[in-house]
Amino acid sequence: MGVRQDYEAVIGLEVHAELQTESKMFCACPVVDSTVAAPNIAVCPVCAGMPGVLPVVNRRAVELALRVALALECEIAPLSVFARKNYFYPDLPKGYQISQYEQPLARNGGLTIFVSTGEKRVRIRRVHLEEDTGKLTHVEKNGQSYSLVDLNRAGVPLLEIVTEPDLHTPEEVRAYAMALRSLLRYVGANSGDMQKGVMRIEPNVSVRPAGSAELGTRTEIKNLNSFRALERSVDYEIRRQSELLRQGQRVVQQTLGWDEARGVTVAQRSKEEAHDYRYFPEPDLPPLVLDPAWVEQIRRDLPELPAARYRRFQQQHGLSAYNAEVLVAERPVADYFEAALAARPELPPKQLANWITGELFGWMNTYNQSIDEIKVAPAALAELVGMVVSGEINQNTAKSVLAEMLESGKSAAQVVKEKGLRQVSDQAQIEAWVEQVLADNPTQVESYLSGKETVAQWLFGQVMRLGRGQANPQVVQQALQRKLLAIKQSHTR
Ligand code: ADP
Ligand code: MG
Ligand code: ZN
Repeated sequence: MGVRQDYEAVIGLEVHAELQTESKMFCACPVVDSTVAAPNIAVCPVCAGMPGVLPVVNRRAVELALRVALALECEIAPLSVFARKNYFYPDLPKGYQISQYEQPLARNGGLTIFVSTGEKRVRIRRVHLEEDTGKLTHVEKNGQSYSLVDLNRAGVPLLEIVTEPDLHTPEEVRAYAMALRSLLRYVGANSGDMQKGVMRIEPNVSVRPAGSAELGTRTEIKNLNSFRALERSVDYEIRRQSELLRQGQRVVQQTLGWDEARGVTVAQRSKEEAHDYRYFPEPDLPPLVLDPAWVEQIRRDLPELPAARYRRFQQQHGLSAYNAEVLVAERPVADYFEAALAARPELPPKQLANWITGELFGWMNTYNQSIDEIKVAPAALAELVGMVVSGEINQNTAKSVLAEMLESGKSAAQVVKEKGLRQVSDQAQIEAWVEQVLADNPTQVESYLSGKETVAQWLFGQVMRLGRGQANPQVVQQALQRKLLAIKQSHTR
């Protein structure tokens, strides 16, 4: 499609995040993992929408919502109001969803994202509390088609986080969604298990002539639960809308679904207006009035957040932006790094970071373990890296030592001792190995002398092999250079 930057995309995101509470939003039913639990085991008259029952607000859900809202630098409303959002759907037994509408819990916040063009603050329009719906499973069986209803999820606390239309590219959209997920996990509000549907993203996309200040007509893509789907669908939608405008056609405001297999957006329904929901204040719940002291307490208890930590890791520890980003993305990983550094403050942070993002992550990926599950504690990794820095073992030996540590839980010192892996720096020993390699490979030495310099690298490898990888590479390199030079001189003489 067009090479000219003639249209600019404008995107705002609505994210629904389930809050990690023990019980549901308005009743005492437990929150169960709806991807594994048997259907309809966590249901009571309240969340099943029986007449005559009364909802009660879950204090823990409010607390988690406040953690998120404060982490997003929002203004907290001292008083917010629950409302009924009325619509009919089989997964909604009450016929309405309790949500916050005109008076949400929080407004006017922001989240900093880091993209290739630099740092950017995305404004948060509002954060409000609501309840999740049930889940429908559509079945096609024996020529029949029907739907099954599971209400385990009905009434699970849900937080809706809405941005201003501040995003302009699929890259920014992805960065925002990733930053938000990371933040939700940092404050303990959400597991971030997107495949389980605990965080669902709805991008609103419009395009307009570049430089225009007006917003174009938008479409909304429903319920995306992967970053890949988010990025692809937004990219597709920008192209589709730009093409329509280019051809002089109009964008129809509507709700779309994303067809992952075909890689296209598909119309679901024309967009409903707010008045279609006949919002009115929930008569069964009093306004939510917050104790300012409690809000301040929650604010004080917030951990250092990913964006701040990302900057600090670069400034204080001198890490690259890449390493800082990778380490900070998950709080336990960032904690691990800092604990390792605290155990050995003299270690170069960069080197420690590389061991974590390289070898450790490799192992974690291969064996599908989290950093909390591996057998190597932060101080144990620091000890290993310390042995490399001091020259006790070389880099390659250290990798196999780490593998053994991860396997057995033994310390680096223990593995090195048991396997006799200490690095050999002994001059005489290394010279003997070098001499043996030169004596065993006269043809290669000959070709080196006739000008094939690269053979030196091969000879180096042979010496390392002879020393079973334990020879100090610097010492080997020097000894080899010295010997080769000596042979060369004796030849030319
Ligand atoms: P709703 O979708 O429930 O009607 P809003 O009107 O508040 O809610 O908008 C939802 C999201 O859509 C917000 O993130 C907002 O920034 C974004 N948005 C609104 N208008 C546009 C537009 N013309 N183009 C892109 N995004 C938009
Ligand atoms: Mg919307
Ligand atoms: Zn219930």
